Amino acid sequence: MTGDGTRAVRAGLPAPEAYEPPLPGPVFAAHYHLPGEAAGPYTYGRDTNPTWTHLEAAIGELESPDEPAHTVAFASGMAAITAVLFSQLRTGDAVVLPADGYQLLPAVRARLESYGIEVRTAPTVGDAQLDALDGARLLWIESPSNPGLDVCDIRRLADAAHARGALVAVDNTLATPLGQRPLDLGADFSVASGTKALTGHGDVLLGYATTRDAAPADAVRLWRKTVGAIPGPMESWLAHRSLATLALRVRQQAAGALALATALTGRPEVTGLRHPGLPGDPAHALAARQMRPGRFGCVVSFVLPDRAHAERFLTALTLVDDATSFGGVRSTAERRARWGGDAVPEGFIRFSVGVEDPEDLVADVLRALDAAKE
Ligand SMILES: *Cc1c(COP(=O)(O)O)cnc(C)c1O
Repeated sequence: MTGDGTRAVRAGLPAPEAYEPPLPGPVFAAHYHLPGEAAGPYTYGRDTNPTWTHLEAAIGELESPDEPAHTVAFASGMAAITAVLFSQLRTGDAVVLPADGYQLLPAVRARLESYGIEVRTAPTVGDAQLDALDGARLLWIESPSNPGLDVCDIRRLADAAHARGALVAVDNTLATPLGQRPLDLGADFSVASGTKALTGHGDVLLGYATTRDAAPADAVRLWRKTVGAIPGPMESWLAHRSLATLALRVRQQAAGALALATALTGRPEVTGLRHPGLPGDPAHALAARQMRPGRFGCVVSFVLPDRAHAERFLTALTLVDDATSFGGVRSTAERRARWGGDAVPEGFIRFSVGVEDPEDLVADVLRALDAAKE
């Protein structure tokens, strides 16, 4: 059994061929030579692409190392999320979403409801979605949730959903497949934005859905072809190239996040500090059971007294960019309430730890906190 780091550097690579590159370059093609019957694997660029094939194999190996899985790559995380929801749900179905999930879920909810799909929501914390499962067709889980960093018991929720005949999908964006394997925990789909920690350089938008079952995979693939939410070959190739360093990045960023969270525990102006890797965090015990050891993600969230204080803090940072998104090699932080989409206090900071040396990053943050005090 190889380790995750070893698997990640070779995941999805074709068999070695003399004088060919280990990872073939991106194939840019709208159509392929197609004499006679359309029997080959590549025909038209909205249906299939060899660069996707390699990337999808790679992600499948990471999400499901022990059993074959089908992965469908998309142009963005939202394209993947909506592909699973809209390919699986029909008018009259009920779906359970997290109340505290990604900020576009309310827009998704409105769209689902306009198609006559009943949408129920419940918070991630305390496995509260359990109470909404009766008669549901699909349960959507986000754990750890973004940006609140609550965690739910995926195995417990999946078992309860399956007992009621519901499918289970987990948004695995924050953890990445190296931090958590939803399919091993009983989920039917692991879905993620590859824009964040998976690719990690802040230069690619991408998404994917992975499942072990052929029929839902076919439905998701048909959805992609129908709406045309296809990943670009260049993005797919960049994403695949980035996977070779995923284990390094995940380990370093998680270690930095833990160092930062630990340093923040001593600050009187910091409240609501959350990081699943922090031993005192309310989610830690559960996260330690279902996430991979030492890989609790790169996000730390906390609250400063008010909006002005948070803005002074962000301005005083020198090693950290004020930017949205998370999971990149360069640390970023933002005052999340500026978007208006999340139920968070005005001084709420979502901090994404990059691959800087943790001691430098912690020193910069503590200095900026001092500077932000009036
Ligand atoms: C960013 C994000 C998404 C959306 O991904 P895009 O690639 O921006 O479309 C979905 N879920 C979570 C948890 C995210 O953080």
